[in-house]
Amino acid sequence: MNLKTTFLTRIVSVLLTFLIPLNLWMSFHPGAKIDPNVKEVLEKTGGFMKGCCHTNQDYDLLEGANIEWTRKDIPFPYNKDGSLSEYYLSWKKEMKQYHDNGIKVFAITPYPHDYIDYGLDPRKPENRAAIQKIAKFYVKDLAGIVGAFQITNEMGIDRFTLPLTLEEAVDFIAMHAEVMYKETRNSNVIIGYNIANPTVAIKMLKYSKWIDYIGLDLYIGCFEEFVHDINLFPVLLGIIRGVSQKPLILCEFGYIGYGEALSKSEKKELINSYGFKSETDAIENMDEFLDELPPDMSNEIEELYPDATDEELGEMIFKGEYANHFYKSLPKNCKLYGYDHTPEGQAKFYRNLIPKLRKLDYLCGAFVYCWADSSHCYVCGQAECPVETGWGLIDGKGNPKPAYYAVRDGFSDAKKSPIQAAADKINDSIADLNAKRVELVDRIRDKFENFGIFAKPAKFNK
Ligand SMILES: [Zn+2]
Repeated sequence: MNLKTTFLTRIVSVLLTFLIPLNLWMSFHPGAKIDPNVKEVLEKTGGFMKGCCHTNQDYDLLEGANIEWTRKDIPFPYNKDGSLSEYYLSWKKEMKQYHDNGIKVFAITPYPHDYIDYGLDPRKPENRAAIQKIAKFYVKDLAGIVGAFQITNEMGIDRFTLPLTLEEAVDFIAMHAEVMYKETRNSNVIIGYNIANPTVAIKMLKYSKWIDYIGLDLYIGCFEEFVHDINLFPVLLGIIRGVSQKPLILCEFGYIGYGEALSKSEKKELINSYGFKSETDAIENMDEFLDELPPDMSNEIEELYPDATDEELGEMIFKGEYANHFYKSLPKNCKLYGYDHTPEGQAKFYRNLIPKLRKLDYLCGAFVYCWADSSHCYVCGQAECPVETGWGLIDGKGNPKPAYYAVRDGFSDAKKSPIQAAADKINDSIADLNAKRVELVDRIRDKFENFGIFAKPAKFNK
């Protein structure tokens, strides 16, 4: 779940910023309400899917947040000798427990590299039949337990896709979809795939007949510095709906609950703590520098980018994919206007966004990312890295954070009293106006900083 800060991303984000004022128009698809495909998905799922990623089995706490679905990764099912793995069998047992306790299961099939490790390289045509046999196995073996399948995860993101190219990844999704779609027709199970890169949705158009939904993973304001408007969520969903005409599911969305930008001197201090004078010094001594990095980060970099030059690695570590992990910080402008990366900002994000999402007729569900804060970042392994540790609705000790209550209210179907509804409307309008005010102040400040008028970032009282 990372958005590469490429030049193309900059261009697209600037274009989208101009489109945002048209968000109502972009996200409005009047035919969706009567679209038989949307109706069918909602009938099979039992209504709008109120979900959460990586939950634990505290059923009371889940129910308390009105969460009805859990989203979980299926472990690769086989040992090298072809027998079913213990890991898969215990996973299946756990999913049965969720099901028996009233929580529906949204299951993600394994990554391409899992098949390669097993000896089934999806790039070799002779392996297609064996991979499709496994795809069929998921549907049959998990019948009565899993209510929805997502075919693999976020193709287009290097970490998940490599060594496949995007074309090969699309073919990998399609070979699953072909059999899984057929296999699920006489049941209430739906199948689809998710995107973190719009190109995949365009390349997948020719296989639309084999899927029930397209999933989107959206993390606006968490990984990039270019877009800041919460209304971009309905805009992007509206664009994918417009292009594909398929029912959509927001497979992952959320907001980082803590993290700050570092000053130049704080960054320098951090590099010094690794024994290097500056970014340039580290790039000039890249082999030694890689040895000093947190092992999870250096191992992944060495595995994914064996042929990268020292300069390319420096770009990735200090400016790109790994910069936030290395500096254990968020970029200065990485946020939605009006929503700080704090537990309260995270709660406000859910409180304002979920009602907007539930108004979209073509959106069949939304899965919060994620259930609990983690003790360490899954990318770099560091405990204090805000990038992948502060997304939870509950904290590391299992206590609800403010976001827990915001999701509970957003997922509630209880009819509000007219007074409550009016009060909420006024609150929302104030929140929107306030966001606009903060946006204006931030824009002005950024302009002046760009011209070097302020030596230090100006502090405005927000
Ligand atoms: Zn990290």
